[in-house]
Amino acid sequence: MDEQDGFIVAMGCRKCGRCENICPNGALYRINGFVNVDHEKCDLCMKCVKVCPNKALLYME
Ligand code: SF4
Ligand code: SF4
Repeated sequence: MDEQDGFIVAMGCRKCGRCENICPNGALYRINGFVNVDHEKCDLCMKCVKVCPNKALLYME
Protein backbone atom coordinates (compact mmCIF):
# COMPACT_ATOMS: atom_id res chain seq x y z
CA MET A 1 0.00 0.00 0.00
CA ASP A 2 1.22 3.50 -0.80
CA GLU A 3 1.60 6.12 1.85
CA GLN A 4 -1.93 7.40 2.18
CA ASP A 5 -4.06 8.87 4.87
CA GLY A 6 -6.52 6.17 5.65
CA PHE A 7 -7.40 2.53 5.44
CA ILE A 8 -10.42 0.29 5.07
CA VAL A 9 -11.92 -1.25 8.15
CA ALA A 10 -14.33 -4.17 8.18
CA MET A 11 -16.87 -3.97 10.94
CA GLY A 12 -20.24 -5.63 11.22
CA CYS A 13 -19.95 -7.88 8.18
CA ARG A 14 -23.14 -9.85 7.59
CA LYS A 15 -21.53 -12.45 5.35
CA CYS A 16 -23.79 -11.56 2.43
CA GLY A 17 -21.04 -12.30 -0.08
CA ARG A 18 -21.60 -9.22 -2.24
CA CYS A 19 -17.95 -8.21 -1.99
CA GLU A 20 -16.74 -11.65 -3.05
CA ASN A 21 -14.21 -11.23 -5.88
CA ILE A 22 -14.72 -7.46 -6.02
CA CYS A 23 -11.23 -6.62 -4.81
CA PRO A 24 -8.75 -6.27 -7.68
CA ASN A 25 -5.86 -6.79 -5.28
CA GLY A 26 -7.09 -9.81 -3.39
CA ALA A 27 -7.04 -7.82 -0.17
CA LEU A 28 -10.34 -9.14 1.14
CA TYR A 29 -10.31 -12.42 3.01
CA ARG A 30 -12.66 -14.17 5.37
CA ILE A 31 -12.36 -15.48 8.88
CA ASN A 32 -15.32 -17.67 9.80
CA GLY A 33 -17.18 -16.01 6.95
CA PHE A 34 -16.54 -12.48 8.20
CA VAL A 35 -14.69 -10.25 5.78
CA ASN A 36 -11.34 -8.75 6.76
CA VAL A 37 -8.95 -6.48 4.89
CA ASP A 38 -5.28 -7.09 4.24
CA HIS A 39 -3.90 -3.57 4.47
CA GLU A 40 -0.66 -4.58 2.76
CA LYS A 41 -2.59 -5.41 -0.42
CA CYS A 42 -5.33 -2.78 -0.30
CA ASP A 43 -4.77 0.29 -2.47
CA LEU A 44 -7.96 2.06 -1.35
CA CYS A 45 -9.78 1.69 -4.66
CA MET A 46 -13.09 1.81 -2.71
CA LYS A 47 -14.80 -0.87 -4.79
CA CYS A 48 -15.63 -2.92 -1.72
CA VAL A 49 -16.86 0.12 0.17
CA LYS A 50 -19.30 0.89 -2.64
CA VAL A 51 -20.55 -2.67 -3.04
CA CYS A 52 -21.25 -3.51 0.60
CA PRO A 53 -24.98 -3.02 1.27
CA ASN A 54 -24.42 -3.12 5.02
CA LYS A 55 -21.75 -0.44 5.30
CA ALA A 56 -19.51 -2.99 6.90
CA LEU A 57 -16.51 -1.78 4.89
CA LEU A 58 -15.60 1.77 5.71
CA TYR A 59 -12.83 4.16 4.88
CA MET A 60 -11.19 5.56 8.00
CA GLU A 61 -8.77 8.47 7.97
S1 SF4 B 1 -10.63 -0.68 -1.18
FE1 SF4 B 1 -10.25 -1.77 -3.10
S2 SF4 B 1 -8.20 -2.66 -2.82
FE2 SF4 B 1 -8.95 -2.13 -0.79
S3 SF4 B 1 -9.94 -3.98 -0.02
FE3 SF4 B 1 -11.53 -2.73 -0.98
S4 SF4 B 1 -11.67 -3.48 -3.08
FE4 SF4 B 1 -9.72 -4.20 -2.23
S1 SF4 C 1 -20.56 -7.00 1.17
FE1 SF4 C 1 -20.28 -6.26 3.27
S2 SF4 C 1 -21.66 -7.47 4.56
FE2 SF4 C 1 -21.45 -8.50 2.57
S3 SF4 C 1 -19.83 -10.02 2.87
FE3 SF4 C 1 -18.86 -8.15 2.07
S4 SF4 C 1 -18.24 -6.95 3.88
FE4 SF4 C 1 -19.69 -8.52 4.56
